Amino acid sequence: MAKIKKMIKTIKINADKCNGCRTCEVVCSAFHSKPAFSSINPAAARIHVTTHRLKDIWLPVFAGEYTPAECNGRDQYIIDGKQYDECSFCRAACPSRDLFKEPDTGLPLKCDMCEGQEKPLCVEWCLNDVLTFEEREEEVDEQIEQTELEAGLNALIDRYGLESIGTTVARIAQRD
Ligand code: SF4
Ligand code: SF4
Repeated sequence: MAKIKKMIKTIKINADKCNGCRTCEVVCSAFHSKPAFSSINPAAARIHVTTHRLKDIWLPVFAGEYTPAECNGRDQYIIDGKQYDECSFCRAACPSRDLFKEPDTGLPLKCDMCEGQEKPLCVEWCLNDVLTFEEREEEVDEQIEQTELEAGLNALIDRYGLESIGTTVARIAQRD
C-alpha cells in the first residue's frame, strides 16, 4: 500500500481531571446542530462522559467508527481500584447501545474534530484542562476513509437491506 504524509489530529484525555460537568457534550451537540448552535442535545454529542458518581468515575470518550455487530464478550478492567466495563472505553456506534447515534434517526455519529474550526470546541470549553488537542504529521498507509455519509448509508443498509435502499433511492430520484 502506498505511503502518504498526513496530519494526524488527536485529543489526549486526562480523566483524572474530569469532574463530569458535561460541557463538552453540550458544546459538541450545539456545534453539530443544524444550523450550528441552534439547539443543544447531549444525546447527539460525539463525545460521551461515562459517569458513576459513587465510584468516582468520570471518563470522556470520543465517537469513533460505526460497526454493524456487537462484541461477543466484554472484559472488566480494574484501574486505580475502580471497575470499568470494556464498553466504557469503546468508541464504536454499535447495535448493543444507543451511544453515538443520532437520537431521531439512529444513524451513527463520529467525532470530526470540529471540522472547519481552528480548535475542537470540546477542548476549548473544557475548563478543567482534561482535553489536549495535538497535531502531528505522520507517514501512513494510503486508505480511503469512511465519510459520515458512507457510515450512515452502511447503517441504513444493515437495517433495511441494500435492495430496499437502492429501490427507494431510485424512486426518489425519479420524483425529482
Ligand atoms: S468538559 Fe471537561 S471536565 Fe467537563 S465533562 Fe467534559 S471532559 Fe470532563
Ligand atoms: S472534537 Fe468536536 S466533534 Fe469531536 S467530540 Fe469534540 S466537540 Fe465533538
